[in-house]
Amino acid sequence: MPKKALKYVIIGNGHAGNSAAETLRKGNPEADIVIISSKPTHYFDHSLLAAFLLEKKDITTLYLYPYTWYKEHNIVLRLNQTVTRVFPDKHQLMLSHNERIHYDKLLIASGAKPKLPESLSRYRDLFTVFTDAVDAMKLRERLGQVRHVTMVGGDSVGLHLAGSILKLGKSITFILNEYNFWPLEYDESVKNKLIGCLKKKHIEVIADDLTTEIVRDGAGINVMTKNGKIIKTDLAFLTSGMVPTLDFLDGSGIDMQTGILVDEYLHTSAQDIWAAGECATVYYPELKDYRQTTGEINAKLLGSVSARNMLDEKVPVSLGEPGKITIEGEDFITYGWKGFSIDL
Ligand SMILES: Cc1cc2nc3c(=O)[nH]c(=O)nc-3n(C[C@H](O)[C@H](O)[C@H](O)COP(=O)(O)OP(=O)(O)OC[C@H]3O[C@@H](n4cnc5c(N)ncnc54)[C@H](O)[C@@H]3O)c2cc1C
Repeated sequence: MPKKALKYVIIGNGHAGNSAAETLRKGNPEADIVIISSKPTHYFDHSLLAAFLLEKKDITTLYLYPYTWYKEHNIVLRLNQTVTRVFPDKHQLMLSHNERIHYDKLLIASGAKPKLPESLSRYRDLFTVFTDAVDAMKLRERLGQVRHVTMVGGDSVGLHLAGSILKLGKSITFILNEYNFWPLEYDESVKNKLIGCLKKKHIEVIADDLTTEIVRDGAGINVMTKNGKIIKTDLAFLTSGMVPTLDFLDGSGIDMQTGILVDEYLHTSAQDIWAAGECATVYYPELKDYRQTTGEINAKLLGSVSARNMLDEKVPVSLGEPGKITIEGEDFITYGWKGFSIDL
């Protein structure tokens, strides 16, 4: 009887998941490879989303591979399907429509979502998020009616977005606090340098204060701070960093901290399950410690390393090169991010 092909299942259609699928296909031409994604949209580069707001381009121009790529590489792409449970003992996972899928080897590459500080959780519906192609399409349509936006937090997604919003002639307020600047290398002097650069760009910066309340005010929004400031704005963006997307792992028994804990080979605590990209908290031998990973460069690197280990190579991770974000000619170091400039 011919040997049955191994079935590799990947949760996540981002940089980590696609980089892993490509590496798996190169290493095993016969295997069954399935990518599952909760999003309806295809794999694209998030770093292009801010520029997309300035252009008339169709969203499909942001896709990194055409749909035909998956067919040519014999990779099954299941979009708009959410994994709700993982059963490591049975080598199975469950989708929201109750279908169970068997895997021989599983990669979790479920990325991260915007962090909503607990004190603001009741205002969830008043925030605008900018995380994917659907958000970008909606925002581009809406920006014509917008004059002022507020960034609640000052993370790198907010900085990237601010570059485009400034070019569209809108005004911006950043409310910064100690949770912000994810994933910038950060200390008091970096904070002061960043505040100085943002102000030179005519961005209002409210530092060392805290957003406490958000209320609707006619067609706009009022954002209130602990020190009594009221910012009248059209959109309040949630830009306070990201947290790994792990809800579907409840009850799986897989060890997690901030993200899924993996060893230097990106293997989780469960047999035949690996994790890569922004959902993973990785043990780096160079640091002799764990680090939460972020950014496109990291996600691609970890996706490919995890796949090589799923193919039974024994490849340890190494730290990627840091990237830099440029504002008013000054550079700010980021971990794992492909850098960008908001000056151009
Ligand atoms: C607006 C924006 C701009 C950015 N700009 C840059 C930049 O300039 N440079 C840079 O380096 N990085 C940038 N980033 C960060 C970068 O996009 C991420 O670091 C990278 O995408 C992480 O890749 P990933 O594969 O780990 O996760 P993601 O790309 O987030 O992919 C996660 C995948 O998991 C799927 N998923 C999650 N949960 C489930 C579930 N339960 N069931 C099924 N599927 C699930 C999602 O649908 C998605 O397909 C930016 C991010 C944003 C949002």
